[in-house]
Amino acid sequence: MISTPPVPGPPAYPVGLRLEGRRVLVLGGGAVARRRLPALVAAGADILLVSPEATPSVEAMAEAGELRWERRGYRPGDLDGAWYALIATDDPEVNTAASAEAEERRVWCVRSDDAAAATAWTPATGRTDGVTVAVLTGRDPRRSAAVRDAVVEGLRDGTLSAPRHRERAPGVAIVGGGPGDPDLITVRGRRLLAEADVVIADRLGPRDLLDELPAHTEVIDAAKIPYGRAMAQQAINDALIEHARAGRTVVRLKGGDPYVFGRGMEEANALAEQGIAVTVVPGITSAVSVPGAAGIPVTHRGVAHEFTVVSGHLAPDDERSLIDWPALARLRGTLVLLMAVERAGAIADTLIRHGRPPTTPVSVVQEGTTAGQRRVDATLDTLARAITDHGLRPPAVIVVGEVVGAAGPGIAATAQPPAGERRG
Ligand code: SAH
Repeated sequence: MISTPPVPGPPAYPVGLRLEGRRVLVLGGGAVARRRLPALVAAGADILLVSPEATPSVEAMAEAGELRWERRGYRPGDLDGAWYALIATDDPEVNTAASAEAEERRVWCVRSDDAAAATAWTPATGRTDGVTVAVLTGRDPRRSAAVRDAVVEGLRDGTLSAPRHRERAPGVAIVGGGPGDPDLITVRGRRLLAEADVVIADRLGPRDLLDELPAHTEVIDAAKIPYGRAMAQQAINDALIEHARAGRTVVRLKGGDPYVFGRGMEEANALAEQGIAVTVVPGITSAVSVPGAAGIPVTHRGVAHEFTVVSGHLAPDDERSLIDWPALARLRGTLVLLMAVERAGAIADTLIRHGRPPTTPVSVVQEGTTAGQRRVDATLDTLARAITDHGLRPPAVIVVGEVVGAAGPGIAATAQPPAGERRG
């Protein structure tokens, strides 16, 4: 808490009021009340609002039973039984009279129109993960809010290091890292990453974030584990188990969302079988975000009211395939193909053979949301050629359907900020 006085004099004394069940008088139902009421409600205060009028959201809080509203002006005696008061009418005379009553009854009171006449000030507050941050600068509410934002954001994403001393449970967090742009991980994922002792990362996902980790974090590159596919998975599971058993906090960082073709549940099951605590943090899947980054919505009103995400890992005629390609070919909506670059020709042929028009628009988006993003458009019958001609390579998402042409002029690929705005 930072505290400097708005008027000459000593600084305010910071305190946390426990208002549950205690009467708080709120005078005036306008913008100030609307801003302050949610925190009073959250604190469980017994709120009495006195005001002839109220903004729609304040009215809704009264209707929801979160506060009691008396539709009238201030009357002497309103402070009776109050522990705390928020005085915020648009009439300075009323505010002065009410705060005089508060002073007389020794009720701490905030005044929206005159900080110098108030006996209490409201700090800029924020909460994250069990921590309440409250900042007072006195004269400069915008600065208070900016300091609050910096602290809360820093705690949320782990850039502000504030180790927990009470509990830091060992175990594994399987974190969806998003499609690649380091800004597209969740706040929780970022914080867990910053707190980890060991990070086991995939080839896909926000690899730039690994460079930002503290020097003591051990980073294991799952892509470099020197075995075949099945063995590599076993080796990854073994490494996760070994580090968690040693009491370390482990993050398994994956591309996109852990449960979308990510073997997230296989790893979670393997850990749970060994009695290791595991949490799974969702991520932004490339299936939706990569087309979006290239200006392609997976649904668009009047164009596609469904989208289907399909793995192209196995050839359509592979007997291990669980995919009903003839049924997919009959769908009118968007098809999103992952891991499909190598087999794109065979997939396109199968879709055409089962009824999808050869002229259906298709787009291939390679390395979406990263500096290397490329988009190449084609049609189902020219897809294979386009991939060869342009030298397209994985990772890429292939979008099939009329949504490919949905963007109007002037819509650029939006998820990738210009180079100058990217975090260094
Ligand atoms: N769990 C991931 C998908 C893993 S399968 C998710 O939810 O996104 C791997 C496939 O995802 C790749 O073959 C490719 O089709 C797609 N992919 C992942 N990241 C990508 C990116 N940045 N650009 C294009 N395709 C991507």
